[in-house]
Amino acid sequence: MGAELALLGGDKSVRQPVKPYASIGQKEKAAVLDVLESGCLSGFYGNWSPLFLGGPVVRRFEEAWASRFAVPHAVSVNSATSGLFAAVGAAGVGPGDEVIVPPYTMSATAMAPLVYGGIPVFADIEADTFCIDPDSVAQLLNDRTRAVIAVNLFGHPARLAELKAMTDKAGVVLIEDNAQAPLAAEQGQLAGTVGDIGVFSLNYHKHIHSGEGGVCVTRSDDLARRLRAIRNHGENVVDEMDLADITNMIGFNYRMTEMSAAVGIVQLEDVYDHVAKRQDLAEAFSREIGALEGITVPSVRSECRHVYYVWAAKIDKRRLGVTRGAFCKALKAEGVPLSEGYVRPLYHLPVFQRRHALGRDGFPFTLTKRRYDGELCPVVEKMHREELFLIETCSYDYNDALVGEIIDAFRKVHAARDKLRSLEAAG
Ligand SMILES: *Cc1c(COP(=O)(O)O)cnc(C)c1O
Repeated sequence: MGAELALLGGDKSVRQPVKPYASIGQKEKAAVLDVLESGCLSGFYGNWSPLFLGGPVVRRFEEAWASRFAVPHAVSVNSATSGLFAAVGAAGVGPGDEVIVPPYTMSATAMAPLVYGGIPVFADIEADTFCIDPDSVAQLLNDRTRAVIAVNLFGHPARLAELKAMTDKAGVVLIEDNAQAPLAAEQGQLAGTVGDIGVFSLNYHKHIHSGEGGVCVTRSDDLARRLRAIRNHGENVVDEMDLADITNMIGFNYRMTEMSAAVGIVQLEDVYDHVAKRQDLAEAFSREIGALEGITVPSVRSECRHVYYVWAAKIDKRRLGVTRGAFCKALKAEGVPLSEGYVRPLYHLPVFQRRHALGRDGFPFTLTKRRYDGELCPVVEKMHREELFLIETCSYDYNDALVGEIIDAFRKVHAARDKLRSLEAAG
């Protein structure tokens, strides 16, 4: 039945090389050349002066970002990791304070609290959108909680309105890690702009990029001032900035260069096009692959826009008849660029398992009774171990033929399930 699997020596379904996506074009090159010719590669000064807030291109980039996302303040930084660290600092997190985070995310989300001696507390995720589950958050909130970090994972918004109502009521700060979800939306509200602070990434692998870079957005004048202070050696300028509360005003250097800002301006102008490409691609995958029994394609909650930083699907091994391992191995042999699972649940990392972060004596875990043993978050464990697989939409240069070949690979491998099952049984 059908063509021989590549796994067993047949021809690969994906016949062309899968090339990296290059989004840098003439406009970006010209913008960077302008900066180089100006001779000013960074306009920042670490003391109080008109340049404390950055050079002309950085300022223009921030204005453009604020206007695109319809927020009063956009604070550029040199990565989303820096942005998360600044956000946790601005939120006033201190030693022993708890910060609720999901464990299925890039590690920086969960490291940010630790930088200030805060305690990451892991909430489980929803099995359909893979974002933090508000019910799990509600169970973990207590009077030591200082902030919640919701991640709009894979490009789908978490239950942001619900989380914002919950955190407002509890008097804690909601930070959105929106590194993967520019232009995603819930009920018409752009992801990243619902929480008290939203953090975007401009890392090379994201929807739009400037090599490295990030942006924090906020509606709060006070949080914006704190973010700007932390970005640039804030301890020197708290008097001039009129910051009476100097909690966490030990500043870093998280400043973006003029060149990155120049690239960022151009990429931002084209953000709708870059994102629309990934949406079209993901919708094609969902339409065709979703027709195959045993595979659950990404779901989009009602009144939400998914921007598909990755296309993440699930395998139901009973309905499919084979395990994720066997199915994905056959797909990879066909040349499909996929990953089994995403990251390991972050509480499995040595920093939590060994409770060893800052210094040698276990700080800040010495301040908490929380433990990270066992399977803290059952839904995440299940995704990690047997259900989730993903295809990166931002990293590769897809054309119609390649998309067709990938879909053919799924159909071919799906049609050969019986064979895969007997191979698996034979070991
Ligand atoms: C990429 C990413 C980050 C980190 O972004 P950088 O700009 O590379 O520091 C943080 N959180 C999530 C969810 C990410 O995907």
